[in-house]
Amino acid sequence: MTAARFTVTDRDGTAVFRPRAWPLFAQPSAVVAFVVTVVVVDVVLFLAGVLTTTLRMEEMLTGAALIASGAVCVEAMRRLGMPQGLVRDLLGAWWIPTLLLLPPVYSMIIPVPLYLMLQYRIKRTVVFRRVFSAAAVALAGFAASSVFHASVAGRIVLLDGISGAAARSVLLTGDAVLAAVLCAALFTVLNTLLVAGAIRLSSRGGPRRKMIWDFESLMLDGVEVCVGLVVTILCGLSLFLLFIVLPPVLLLQRSLLFQQLQTAARTDPKTGLLNAATWEQEAEAELARSIASGRPMAVLIVDIDHFKRVNDTHGHLFGDQVLVGVATTLTHQLRQYDVVGRFGGEEFVILLPGADMAEACRIAERLRTRVGRMALPVGEIAVAVTVSIGVALLRVHGRDLLELMTAADLALYRAKDSGRNRICLPVAPTAGVPAQARQSEVAEEQHSGEPG
Ligand code: GH3
Ligand code: MG
Ligand code: MG
Repeated sequence: MTAARFTVTDRDGTAVFRPRAWPLFAQPSAVVAFVVTVVVVDVVLFLAGVLTTTLRMEEMLTGAALIASGAVCVEAMRRLGMPQGLVRDLLGAWWIPTLLLLPPVYSMIIPVPLYLMLQYRIKRTVVFRRVFSAAAVALAGFAASSVFHASVAGRIVLLDGISGAAARSVLLTGDAVLAAVLCAALFTVLNTLLVAGAIRLSSRGGPRRKMIWDFESLMLDGVEVCVGLVVTILCGLSLFLLFIVLPPVLLLQRSLLFQQLQTAARTDPKTGLLNAATWEQEAEAELARSIASGRPMAVLIVDIDHFKRVNDTHGHLFGDQVLVGVATTLTHQLRQYDVVGRFGGEEFVILLPGADMAEACRIAERLRTRVGRMALPVGEIAVAVTVSIGVALLRVHGRDLLELMTAADLALYRAKDSGRNRICLPVAPTAGVPAQARQSEVAEEQHSGEPG
């Protein structure tokens, strides 16, 4: 089908409906196929669910009460603000009672108003992402709900659930509580799998993104399941109990978002490393400790060579993937207590507590080699980048952070001037420490790499 057939124009002939121009279609074809499949499956199951589910007033009231409670939570997010990127919310507190107390088709309806609110009341984001998130919640909810209702009813009831009253009464038995816990967990796993699948497909060929199944996320998933089950039980006893459970859910959600906002304020959104201001704060604290204890310490400035060429040749999006790749490689090569940040553009700063000249140069050399071995695929070919690194040592090249940074920056310029893809120390130490100057030169000669 041609783009023209999809285009709707107004009276002036201006195109107002051009699906081909939607951001979704700028994604890799695997992402488009995945998103479209999930949405189409949702629509088909929804229609089948609507046709086979008997509407009951009591269930509709429960659904409306859950939507209203979720809406209060979304409005509360608006007051606090939302961090950038993938955000953890606590809306599972409303999805879980829906899937356990109501027939499966309700799990496909309830996300719609709440995701519309997220999009138009909280933060406008790329529409297909929002639609996919809602569709993933709906599909996971429908599947988990079908399994739960089939298990508690003792028979396969895929599209028409048992009545709300029956669900509530069985929720008071041990077996049903176990089934509820397992199905709430199933919902969380399915939803995470769908989201992880989309993220993986959209970053295919690029460096791997941060795992969304780390310890922290699993703990939050566990808390969300517990909160969802408590809401289910209270809601099952009486809808009026939602007034009692809403404040603690709001408070939990607030602390969860606050923690994410705090993390976002400290980190560089592109690479996940510390941003320049936070790195400086942490480096100052580490410097004070090193001065007090008399321990050595080193500062490295890492700069990607000819990064502009990478952008010019392969585009800025690929350039961004290279930045993420370099950041990941640096982090993997460093120790837990080393402080890594993105200084800006294609420059990274690293503070190595306890590192003397030899160790700092060894670490810098390892970073240079590992980044050089990274190969990022672009179609059939793999693109490699190199880095130049300037190294400065506490008490040798500077006594405070400003002096150290200036010295490392000078060393970086030397590395660039002498051919790139190498590590360098400053040409001369600060006044008062002439003896180490020659040592710096020796170290530099030993640790320079091949010109890039
Ligand atoms: P040199 O080896 O001398 O460091 O050369 P270079 O090309 O790496 O350095 P230059 O300072 O000339 O160019 C840096 C480039 O980094 C220019 C800018 O467009 C690009 N850049 C800065 N921040 C970002 C970013 O966040 N994403 C992408 N893709 N590019 C960025
Ligand atoms: Mg550069
Ligand atoms: Mg630079």
